[in-house]
Amino acid sequence: MNCLICATPYQTTATWSKLFLYELDSSTCGRCFEKFDISKSTNDFTDFLGTPYEGAVDSVFCLYTYNEPMKEYLHQYKFLQDVALAKVFAGKLQQVFQRKEGIVVPIPMHPEKLKLRTFAQVDELLKAATIPFQQLLTKTTSDSQGKKTKIERLKTNNLFEVISTIEATNYILFDDIYTTGATIHHAAKTLKDKGAKRVDAITLIKG
Ligand SMILES: [Zn+2]
Repeated sequence: MNCLICATPYQTTATWSKLFLYELDSSTCGRCFEKFDISKSTNDFTDFLGTPYEGAVDSVFCLYTYNEPMKEYLHQYKFLQDVALAKVFAGKLQQVFQRKEGIVVPIPMHPEKLKLRTFAQVDELLKAATIPFQQLLTKTTSDSQGKKTKIERLKTNNLFEVISTIEATNYILFDDIYTTGATIHHAAKTLKDKGAKRVDAITLIKG
């Protein structure tokens, strides 16, 4: 097999844990995979104290830091539309989601953006990891988050709407990157307002 990132051939090793846990292969060589830096970020929601989103999300778990190799990966995956790269974190995501219980809800893309990017990159990460999910949210605005200040973003009316019934149960939001947290907190608030009991969040990267 050739590494999805550097394209050099590599050997996969069939370990016992792989056989028993149905671990998915990352489709990358060890050298490339080691360059991704595990995030040690802890939940810190002090930024949201006093906002309408205080307490909306119960926990956030980010897998990796946004280091150079990760920036390159994300650029190639999102902007150069290399859907094959969804496989790189399949095994890691499986491990992390196994530890949580709840209905997995990916953060949706605005339909206009989806047209531009050709595939829903957040959904594809879950699909590659064979994690079942439900698309329960839809974006209400196409306003680019990046052009607003953090305060402006928090003040905006909710960014999401639910498109299905929300049960009094646990939900797990999933997004590619946690930067200001505005997206995750808005989404969590939307689910809680509709009756979700608990909302945790997992993101691939801590921006
Ligand atoms: Zn490689």
